Amino acid sequence: MSFVKGLKCRECGKDYPKEALHVCSQCFGPLEVDYEYERIKKELSREKIKSRGKTMWRYRELLPLDGEPTVGTQVGFTPLVKANNLAKKLGVDELYVKNDSVNYPTYSFKDRVVSAALSKAKELGFKTVACATTGNLGNSVAAQAVQGNLESYIFMPANLEQGKVIGTSIYGTNIIGINGNYDGVNRMCSEIADKYGWAFANINIRPYYGDGSKSYGYEIAEQLGWKTPDNVIVPVAGSSLITKIWKAFHEFEMLGLLEGKVNSKIFAAQATGCSPVTTAIKNDTDVITPVKPNTIAKSIAIGNPADGYYGVKTTKDSGGYGEDVNDEEIVLAMRLLAETEGIFTETAGGVTVGVTKKLVQQGRIKPDETTVICITGNGLKTVEALSGQFTDPIIIEPKLNSFEEIYSNRVSTA
Ligand SMILES: *Cc1c(COP(=O)(O)O)cnc(C)c1O
Ligand SMILES: [Zn+2]
Repeated sequence: MSFVKGLKCRECGKDYPKEALHVCSQCFGPLEVDYEYERIKKELSREKIKSRGKTMWRYRELLPLDGEPTVGTQVGFTPLVKANNLAKKLGVDELYVKNDSVNYPTYSFKDRVVSAALSKAKELGFKTVACATTGNLGNSVAAQAVQGNLESYIFMPANLEQGKVIGTSIYGTNIIGINGNYDGVNRMCSEIADKYGWAFANINIRPYYGDGSKSYGYEIAEQLGWKTPDNVIVPVAGSSLITKIWKAFHEFEMLGLLEGKVNSKIFAAQATGCSPVTTAIKNDTDVITPVKPNTIAKSIAIGNPADGYYGVKTTKDSGGYGEDVNDEEIVLAMRLLAETEGIFTETAGGVTVGVTKKLVQQGRIKPDETTVICITGNGLKTVEALSGQFTDPIIIEPKLNSFEEIYSNRVSTA
């Protein structure tokens, strides 16, 4: 059933076999999974997709496996929420939240890339999987490695939020904290991957990992009635998700699955304390200047993004832009989403909501356009970001008159 031809260099087009490879030996460009689109076009239809289970694997012809998925078969097809209350607050007519804060099994969009990567790792015969993580990837690799009966090693910066650390340790994995930021962790992991021959989800099997992100884009299009929105606001770390949403939309168009054509602007969203990609966009250059991260949005704090060049290119090719928000704006935006839509997102979601607000104010997003905000992680994992935001609950005796005493002064949480 495989529609995967092999790997192909994104820069020079050189072909490679379906193995644990990620860099072109000729030009050092990144490798991508190459599909037999002509055959997929004959086989895949909207009806076929709709007849399948509500998981990311309903698009399996466009995902990078040779056989059936063996890890994370229930991942994906998260809600696309019509956010009318938030729309009103921001001053736009049609706004949606693509809500991967409730993805299965670890509440972030990373469950998609890990399902693809670990299923592929098993196909390739690996027994040990690993990753360099800013938090969510580690949660998901550890959880899904258990499900796939794989040994796992998770390497993370030592200063991550407790929810991310415990949310990894609970699975009985090997967790290693490292002094310094993600970029140092990532460099060290490249050496470990070479020396130990493990499958690092986001390093040596990165082409397969990346294609798991495409499912987020397919779902947005299907859930909008086989249409793509005018604007998508994407949180950017290594720039994998942003490039793959764009790719997903175009694959659907090429395969005749869309109503009309792709006419979407893709916007990159970063935290001001780690904004190498949006800074390059604002400076109108495709040269990424690495930065040292300093932000509460730790899950997207990558100072030297692997695919940063392509992240910039995606926003440019689509007619989008990049914007960033500071830590205070991130917290306000987390609260705004919760208070308007009942969705508790992590700091990265505060980044996309805050950036959307800015883009509307700047007139880059028009009130009569359709906009999708990417919500990629869950707020219960980053509660530290909200410390000091709320007064403690009032504590009373379990008696009616105790309640009425405070009720007459009105209960307030703000
Ligand atoms: C990893 C991550 C992203 C984006 O990652 P890319 O490396 O740009 O694909 C966005 N949001 C959250 C919550 C993440 O964990
Ligand atoms: Zn090449």
